[in-house]
Amino acid sequence: MVDPRTSPKAVSPSADELRLRIEWGDGHVSEYAPRELRLACPCAACVEEMTGRPLLDASTVAPDIWPLAVRYVGRYALRFDFSDGHDTGIYTFELLRSLCRCGECPS
Ligand SMILES: [Zn+2]
Ligand SMILES: [Zn+2]
Repeated sequence: MVDPRTSPKAVSPSADELRLRIEWGDGHVSEYAPRELRLACPCAACVEEMTGRPLLDASTVAPDIWPLAVRYVGRYALRFDFSDGHDTGIYTFELLRSLCRCGECPS
């Protein structure tokens, strides 16, 4: 079964083109700062697999980092080609929804 809360209807840049905008199946809209997405990368180089300990040093991530490309991974996730060359993170829609910082969503 498809959960509309974690099924994006549309993935696009925000109106000011500074953030990534996801419109979800339940009508909720999330906007993500690219740097926040990069810092939340769940890949094995950024997060220790067994413990969930962050391995990524936030000070090494440029403030103006930007996804050069956004790709769908099957029907369950997105993958970003970041401008620092990092592209190994698989961001499941559940993860992306949990990263929403709109103020209404629990953070
Ligand atoms: Zn990563
Ligand atoms: Zn939200």
